[in-house]
Amino acid sequence: MLIITTPDITQDALDHLIERVEAAGLRTHVIRGAERTVVGCIGDDARLRDIALGQMPGVADVVPVLKPYRLAAREYAAGATTIALGDPAGTVVGGDALVMMAGPCSVEGREMLHATARAVQRQGARVLRGGAFKPRSSPWAFQGLGTEALELLAEVRAATGMPVVTEVMDTRQVELVASYADVLQIGARNMQNFALLSEVGRAQRPVLLKRGLSATVTELLQAAEYVMAQGNRDVILCERGIRTYETSTRNTLDVAAIPVLKRETHLPVLVDPSHAAGKAALVAPLAMAAIAAGADGLIVEVHPEPSCALSDGEQSLTFEAFASLMRQAAPFAAAAGRTLPLTAPAALGAAA
Ligand code: PEP
Ligand code: MN
Repeated sequence: MLIITTPDITQDALDHLIERVEAAGLRTHVIRGAERTVVGCIGDDARLRDIALGQMPGVADVVPVLKPYRLAAREYAAGATTIALGDPAGTVVGGDALVMMAGPCSVEGREMLHATARAVQRQGARVLRGGAFKPRSSPWAFQGLGTEALELLAEVRAATGMPVVTEVMDTRQVELVASYADVLQIGARNMQNFALLSEVGRAQRPVLLKRGLSATVTELLQAAEYVMAQGNRDVILCERGIRTYETSTRNTLDVAAIPVLKRETHLPVLVDPSHAAGKAALVAPLAMAAIAAGADGLIVEVHPEPSCALSDGEQSLTFEAFASLMRQAAPFAAAAGRTLPLTAPAALGAAA
């Protein structure tokens, strides 16, 4: 950390400043410029966190040199993090192959979940998504089937071999959801629910962490840090669009966040073009942009009959539209130097 002093700082104030920093266990290095004196602080910045340095006499500015996250920082790991989901198909998130996650916004029943899982698996999707507990803007909207949906997800996993990802909204549900799900989803609205982040950090399941509607990339990485600080290093980040003044899409897909995250962190980055677009017709183009920008995979909403969906029908793809998205994605994946499975896993051909 660098402390920039004001041009008129007194020697007493400077001595006092140095004393405070050193009392916190850091060393200091004073740089005297023509106009200003800068105090370089050497050691663990975290020890200065509780001192309001900016309020001390003679301090003009405090400039952190290190990132406010460590475990998630690219420098922390030797290479990119890969997360094996432990399924029979050997799905790995963050590896060479793009990982497609697809399924309904909400689990609405047995038939539709089975049908959707089989349809998306045949096109190359490896992970089944489906909400059991739904974060809805209105308390009167469909809130999900809860435990019944978790049971259906487990049933479809057993039939297809597909790992399942589903959202957990509350610390009190983590144990229950983790007993069914292969990947715990933290929704955009809960990205800064620190108690929930810590709780999933203690669960033995990979976490799909969605970016908050108004969160910066740094805040997303700090949220990941909360999970990782509890010992769970299997965090998959997900860009799903942020809120801007633009109204022609539900959210604005921040494509730039993908290469930014790739530079900043070793964690895999997924993109959810469905919640960004808000309209089915826009999902495929956003998906292509995400792949071209370096995403490690996509999570897409698919429904047997979008017009009858209990949630997010407008942005849900039909089976045909998902098949078309996958075909379109192939050359983009190749151009990005990635592979993209376009069929069900060989060993599971019979099930599919
Ligand atoms: C979802 O994926 O079901 C969902 C609610 O997404 P988000 O949290 O990104 O809005
Ligand atoms: Mn949805």
